[in-house]
Amino acid sequence: MEIKKEIKLKKIPTKASEQYRNFPMVPRVVFGNGSFDQLGDILMPKRKHSEAPMIFLVDDVFEGTDLVKRIPRIFCDQIIFVSAEEEPKTQQVDALVSMIQKTFQEEPSGIVGIGGGTLLDLAKAVAILMTNKGGAANYQGWDLVNKKSIYHVGIPTISGTGAEVSRTTVLLGPDKKLGINSDYTTFDQVLLDPELTKGVCKEQWFYTGMDCYIHCVESLNGTYLNAFSQSYGEKALDLCKEVFLNDLPQAESRDKLMMASWHGGMSIAYSQVGVAHALSYGLGYLLGIKHGIGNCLVFQHLEEFYPKGVELFHKMKYKHNIELPKGICKNLSEAELDSMVTVALGMEPLWENALGENWRSSITPDKIKAIYRKI
Ligand code: NAD
Ligand code: ZN
Repeated sequence: MEIKKEIKLKKIPTKASEQYRNFPMVPRVVFGNGSFDQLGDILMPKRKHSEAPMIFLVDDVFEGTDLVKRIPRIFCDQIIFVSAEEEPKTQQVDALVSMIQKTFQEEPSGIVGIGGGTLLDLAKAVAILMTNKGGAANYQGWDLVNKKSIYHVGIPTISGTGAEVSRTTVLLGPDKKLGINSDYTTFDQVLLDPELTKGVCKEQWFYTGMDCYIHCVESLNGTYLNAFSQSYGEKALDLCKEVFLNDLPQAESRDKLMMASWHGGMSIAYSQVGVAHALSYGLGYLLGIKHGIGNCLVFQHLEEFYPKGVELFHKMKYKHNIELPKGICKNLSEAELDSMVTVALGMEPLWENALGENWRSSITPDKIKAIYRKI
């Protein structure tokens, strides 16, 4: 993908002011195959006392596996298995928080999320709701969290979303799918052990990996691009090309995709995603289609917006023999299509990043519907 010759330096708009955003980064990170076995040492200084447990939220795909035996559980620590079948919901966060508060008199020492974007987002949200009153839905939006969350650790087991570095946790609420975007959302510690991604099936590897690729394309082609985002976006894009277009040894491919995810996440932190994410939100909201595959379903039809990015996407898809489902929106009513359009158009910063300040003049509900109808 060619980077735009002229890079428009633009302040990231914030609601409150026109200042540059001062955003948090993950303060501590471990990278390396087998680094999971250091988790006990990492957590030890964060343990408040024997009655304040570490809560491990673990993707239930790992139930009964060796990974669970390696979790450094002591005192009254608890492992809670959670299904990643569906994307995280505000009610699910509330239920987990209430269960933890009922089980333990003391506030936990920390929350450790082990899994893909679904478990990482749940861990972030539960850590926030341990100290902030009310339900998770109250905090969906920008900078609505008032109190620091409890210590929380993210351990990805599949690469691509960038959820391990981001300051958001995307939740499906009663009336919207929206992140809890706050300075307290970001993990206190991330552990990157590429070996943990060994069991991921090819299709899921591709969908979640393409989330990262699409982050790069949308960030690098956006009007919010600046040198900060570009430096991370270019690196992530190069890594994605190596992983998805070359024939790397598996271990190298796992290492590189994990770092691509990190850099892709850093790139969008200081810019924004674009058209594919806006439309994918609509699919997720109405049909429950998950983020990675939803992005792929949309992105394949976005040659008008990202011609080179889409061309390369087709090459990658072909190389890995990925068949995307068809006819998803075929039987949707006009009202259902309208509701997806409303969700998509509601993602204003994404459109502004993709198409510039006058985006409303170049994108119409009919145009969006026409794209949905192709899916
Ligand atoms: P996921 O967590 O939904 O998991 C996808 C599938 O892979 C699940 O079936 C899971 O059980 C399985 N899986 C995970 N690790 C595995 C392993 N090692 N072996 C075998 N199977 C494994 O996938 P995802 O694509 O990483 O996450 C999607 C979620 O991330 C969505 O909810 C999306 O909203 C969120 N997201 C968040 C951000 C953010 O910045 N917070 C960014 C992008 C996406
Ligand atoms: Zn994404």
